[in-house]
Amino acid sequence: MKLFNLLTPGTTLLTPNRRLSAALTVQFQEYQVKQNKSCWQTPDILPLQSWLQRTWQELAAKNLSEKNYYLLSSHQEMILWEEILAKMPEHDYLLQISATAELAKSAWGLLKQWRIDVHDPILSQTEDSKTFQKWAREISKVYTQNHWLDASSLADVIEHSILQNEIQLPSEIILFGFTEITPQQNHLLSAYENAGTRITHYKSERSADTVSKISLIDEDAEIRTMAGWAKSIYQSSQRDLRAYSIGCVIPNLEKLRDTALKIFSDVFSENHTFTLDPTLLPFNISAGKSLASYPIIHTALALLGLSDKPITIEIFSNLLRSPFLGHAEQEQLKRAYFDGRLRNANVTTVKLEKLLHPNDPAKLTASCPALARRLTRYLAHLTNIKKSLPLSAWAKHFIELLTLLGWPGERSLNSQEYQVTQRWLEILTEFSTYDSILPSQSFSAALNYLTQITTKTIFQIQTPEAPIQIVGVLEAVELPFEHLWVMGLDDSQWPGAPKPNPFIPQQLQKKLHMPHATAERELIYCTELTEQLKNSAKHVIFSHALKNDDADLRPSSLLQKIVETNIEAIQIKLSDSPAKVILSEQQLDTLIDNLAPEITDHAAIRGGINIFKLQAACPFKAFAELRLHARKLETPTIGLRALDRGIIAHKALELIWLEIKNSETLNSLDPNELTSIIHHSAEQAIEATTGEKITSQRYLTLELRRLEKLLSQWLEIEKQRPAFKVLFQEYEKNTSMGQIPLTLRVDRIDQLEDGTQIIIDYKTGKHNEISGWFGERPDEPQLPLYCVTEADNTVGIAFAKINPDKIELIGVSKLHLGIDSIKMLTEVSAAEIKIWSQQLENWHSTLAKLGTDFCHGVADVDPKNKQETCRHCNLHALCRTYENQA
Ligand code: SF4
Repeated sequence: MKLFNLLTPGTTLLTPNRRLSAALTVQFQEYQVKQNKSCWQTPDILPLQSWLQRTWQELAAKNLSEKNYYLLSSHQEMILWEEILAKMPEHDYLLQISATAELAKSAWGLLKQWRIDVHDPILSQTEDSKTFQKWAREISKVYTQNHWLDASSLADVIEHSILQNEIQLPSEIILFGFTEITPQQNHLLSAYENAGTRITHYKSERSADTVSKISLIDEDAEIRTMAGWAKSIYQSSQRDLRAYSIGCVIPNLEKLRDTALKIFSDVFSENHTFTLDPTLLPFNISAGKSLASYPIIHTALALLGLSDKPITIEIFSNLLRSPFLGHAEQEQLKRAYFDGRLRNANVTTVKLEKLLHPNDPAKLTASCPALARRLTRYLAHLTNIKKSLPLSAWAKHFIELLTLLGWPGERSLNSQEYQVTQRWLEILTEFSTYDSILPSQSFSAALNYLTQITTKTIFQIQTPEAPIQIVGVLEAVELPFEHLWVMGLDDSQWPGAPKPNPFIPQQLQKKLHMPHATAERELIYCTELTEQLKNSAKHVIFSHALKNDDADLRPSSLLQKIVETNIEAIQIKLSDSPAKVILSEQQLDTLIDNLAPEITDHAAIRGGINIFKLQAACPFKAFAELRLHARKLETPTIGLRALDRGIIAHKALELIWLEIKNSETLNSLDPNELTSIIHHSAEQAIEATTGEKITSQRYLTLELRRLEKLLSQWLEIEKQRPAFKVLFQEYEKNTSMGQIPLTLRVDRIDQLEDGTQIIIDYKTGKHNEISGWFGERPDEPQLPLYCVTEADNTVGIAFAKINPDKIELIGVSKLHLGIDSIKMLTEVSAAEIKIWSQQLENWHSTLAKLGTDFCHGVADVDPKNKQETCRHCNLHALCRTYENQA
């Protein structure tokens, strides 16, 4: 290759990015092997920015120039910009300091690259640029006072050193793959040239054999087709391709990284099995993601956020289930159960100090002792740390605190976790150098800086060189591909809309042709890039989507002269995803297994009345929830849940009837007395149920008012009934049905004037109807069950519906009871049997069958009503009923 013949000793090859340098180094080595060489000098190939840094480090090491200058890292520059902005009077009006600092830093970089002096009056043309000029002068002053240097000024410092003869010059600098060179870079290169270095702008002489364009329905289809195309080439080559053979270019790769990774992993997964480790697949994706988004680092930052302040259940629950904590494997189940218990108790925030007390009702110390010990030591260490410390001291404390919590866990880290952790430890080491730019900080401020730096660090997992490269547009130029697919070239994105920097006057940006300044500039730039991409491989395909949501898209005007092609012509074998393949083959593997093991130890059965309700709704649901304990994890909510409101209403009614006892007293009470009884009962019920869980008095007062209103409306209905006496409340009875031992708890049994009784069940939900008592699969089996076990003297059963939408007493009875809303059995259309005694027998046999089925392990996926029953069920993933419908 002609380029490699130019790489003589003393020559430096510069590229615009790291990937092109890496690819050229690999290619150079292959080239040497082909030349039958057994050893060779490593060529000096590196990205321009790295070369500047290396040159500056060499200068600093020799103490030849700028010896007192300190080169700031990108994070340090950002922090300094934020510090400057925070001190400015405009600070009060800035909504997003961090985003503004980022824009200001980028404007500062443009000034440097286009060699505009920060004091130039041209910058005071607009209000925004005037304000920016003030900030830029301030940061320039801070840099000078402290002898700090930022990356955008490096080229100027090196240029100055060349003029001072302080630098060792290379004999030749070759520039390769640059789409444009900034004025600052031009000046630097001229300085080298004037000092005797030969400067060569090298252009490869490749040209494509075929260039075509294809339209696909949307962005997802583009990625999937591109992946299928890459896979077809890879397979037809017998998987024997050199690195960088196939290029897949995605213009906004940072945004589409996760989607692309998922689709490519899906398409390339072999034998219809997914691989969880994409590094085993033949492609490499050139885009990282925020270091803070990797689970192991996310956990470390969350752990450091633990303090004596309340923590939300979401954070605490994540930590309980995280593998990156000490003893996580050993206490895995205990921590999961503890999490479930907190959720069931609707705990929305936890306070560690309280949770760690041995008498705390949640009992963390007894449930997860190893975790409790670690948290106790962590809190003790935290309490002993001084309030304000330099960041280097905080870096040590952060490590110590994490060690006390056992981060990163007991299991060995996989390669990805190891790389991520190493990068984060490097950041912590860099954190120690911040003492020179920031004064001592509090714990929370130091953690805030660490979180910010970690979040802004984009990290890409290192993977072996691969034949298929998924890259962004700028990286693709001059990479040595044989096959290239560039997607996303529709008229809305290529060329993109201009995005001038708001802190530099627009006229100035336009005049100097700064990046993204105008639509014309974007068009020229994209035209140049398209030409370069057209010649970047032997076979090139450009693609564009036809739709973006509802918007119609057209191909970019820059693709006008390129011939159209289609999937058949380029011979792509689009394979279905593993999930689709498995689904399409389901009939081949039918296995009906709807019988669970029979229950032999009936005394151990748990579930009570719920067994009958679930078995009737769907036998699989009863099996999964009651025997496999596959239940939904509760999501705690602020305030009272429907369940809590139901418990409070039950308790309040119990207290009311403990005092009033019968209808005669109810009717004789004067309104004030009744109001007072309702008030006290409701108040006690709320207090007994909420305890210390809810501290907002205003919220509790509103709840109290709401409940009082409901209760007084309900008692008005009770007043209209013929005479009755409340015989039992929360009546407990041990019995059995269909081999199932039961402890029944009946809300209330009323005795009527003739000595007979009706059973009442309070319902605070909206969906309880008397039709739910009848049929072979009753929706509401509890009252029929109570009725058959108390059959002797019972003449009716009723729901007391007490909710803001409907307050009523509805039921069925053997005889007319003088209450219009309680119908005689003969009047109930849902009841097929009209004789009370026969209905009791029918209920008995229906319930006994449901109980026996449950004991025998009948577990068919057979919802009573597919629409309704499954809609309210959380087991879709386990029973896969929807796959069955497909
Ligand atoms: S989702 Fe439907 S079929 Fe599946 S267990 Fe629940 S009720 Fe049964």
